[in-house]
Amino acid sequence: MKKKLYRCIHCGIGKTTIKNVEKILSFNNNTVLVNINAEVCDHCGERYYEPETVRYFERIKKELKSKDSKQLIPIGITYKVAI
Ligand SMILES: [Zn+2]
Repeated sequence: MKKKLYRCIHCGIGKTTIKNVEKILSFNNNTVLVNINAEVCDHCGERYYEPETVRYFERIKKELKSKDSKQLIPIGITYKVAI
């Protein structure tokens, strides 16, 4: 399968390649880590997501809003610095 290279719209210099990236989705003070493939610019690092990936993010956000999600597993506590 031949990989298609796109010119980055953000910087206009780099080309994008498919990479596995970590995306953080948030709702209120809760966050979910999602490992997903995205087109990433090799110059500025701008990410481009497929429409189905964006829909997937929306589904995960809905899960985050529901109090009794079975798809989301707690993996730790997120802290902020008390000033
Ligand atoms: Zn770029």
